[in-house]
Amino acid sequence: MDTPRSHELFEAANRSIPGGVNSPVRAFGRVGGVPLFIARAAGTTLWDADGNAYLDYVGSWGPMLLGHAHHAVEAAVVAAASKGTSFGAPTSGEIELAEKVIDMVPSVELVRFVNSGTEATMSALRVARAATGRDGMLKFRGGYHGHGDAFLVEAGSGAATLGVPDSPGVTAGTARDTRVAEYNDLDDVAGHLRGGDIACVFVEPIAGNMGCVPPAPGFLEGLRALCDETGTILIFDEVMTGFRVAMGGAQERYGVMPDLTTLGKIIGGGLPVGAFGGRADLMRHVAPAGPVYQAGTLSGNPLATAAGIAALGWIQDHPQIYDHLEMLGQRLDRGVERIMAGSDQPLTWNRVGAMASLYFHPGPVTDWPSASSGDNERFARFFHGMLDEGIYLAPSPYEALFFSAAHTEHDIDRTLESMERVLGQVVAEAGA
Ligand SMILES: *Cc1c(COP(=O)(O)O)cnc(C)c1O
Repeated sequence: MDTPRSHELFEAANRSIPGGVNSPVRAFGRVGGVPLFIARAAGTTLWDADGNAYLDYVGSWGPMLLGHAHHAVEAAVVAAASKGTSFGAPTSGEIELAEKVIDMVPSVELVRFVNSGTEATMSALRVARAATGRDGMLKFRGGYHGHGDAFLVEAGSGAATLGVPDSPGVTAGTARDTRVAEYNDLDDVAGHLRGGDIACVFVEPIAGNMGCVPPAPGFLEGLRALCDETGTILIFDEVMTGFRVAMGGAQERYGVMPDLTTLGKIIGGGLPVGAFGGRADLMRHVAPAGPVYQAGTLSGNPLATAAGIAALGWIQDHPQIYDHLEMLGQRLDRGVERIMAGSDQPLTWNRVGAMASLYFHPGPVTDWPSASSGDNERFARFFHGMLDEGIYLAPSPYEALFFSAAHTEHDIDRTLESMERVLGQVVAEAGA
């Protein structure tokens, strides 16, 4: 038999790219084997370099809320490309995208565009420090906020997948300014904020980088109150949850307003866009309105901006997609719960909106200690079993499963049938 193309390509990639990939978790390190090289995608289907088709639950790790190669986004990108791909000067499209974000995300009054979620969080942190005159920052164990130095402390998914929660190359001084609390633990947060030296609390309002962990009732409200009492800036990192769990993100879903919000993923419709925004008085610290330096040669790039306008515009014109996503989610819930009831494996299912996780752990999964104590061997067997069934899940137990507006009830039913079969095999192998 011929060697699969993905094997050949991965070998070649390893000769020119560290580890063969441009973002670590793509390398299948947690689950073993060789990553699929993707040739193309449409709707909910990915085709690998050998032409095998897969039903996709990764969605490029979040951005593809409308499915792959969505016609509106594709048309907008093609039209923009023909007019020149970068000018380094303002364009009217940037205003249009900014107005959409301000319209859709309840707490955002002013917004600055960048090229990734990582840039958004680094920049929001700088604004918070400048506005408060404090150096400290509080994040949560298992919370991922991109690969900026300040955030690479107890950082969940990518870092946890590699087994290096703290990265070499981050200075001791930087790490010292980052404090870490347990997710869903308000007493822990209160203890840290009492010192008065914390500029901001950075939180994923639904944790999505230790699998999917919802905020406990009152957790976000409690953070809001503690921040108000201590003059601390509350930052919701909605790079994953923004436009996914509701049109206005988790802040709309839970009705708790942060001071600043970071966005990414869906906002660019699959092209590189990030953003940070929030209270106008805070955002006016950003240059050239204020003294906090932040810049980008390709920021507001016309191609990426066009994709963002098309994606967000489609969402605004079709708000019923959130009902569709909730309907699919409930169908998944019912199916998974039925499968779990018929299985003697310790399993936990968490879901909010169009993000979810199956943990190989008896649960409840509410924070990093519970999220990280699942059976990773079983997860790896489950992952490969699902892949053999033509279903592409994230190759890490710390990544959520995403579905899109393009998914159908038929896709969900097919997925549940595969899950039941594969979980049965996992049990049989574990017993053997
Ligand atoms: C993906 C993600 C980031 C980083 O965004 P990049 O575009 O990968 O730099 C930051 N925060 C959260 C919550 C994310 O899920």
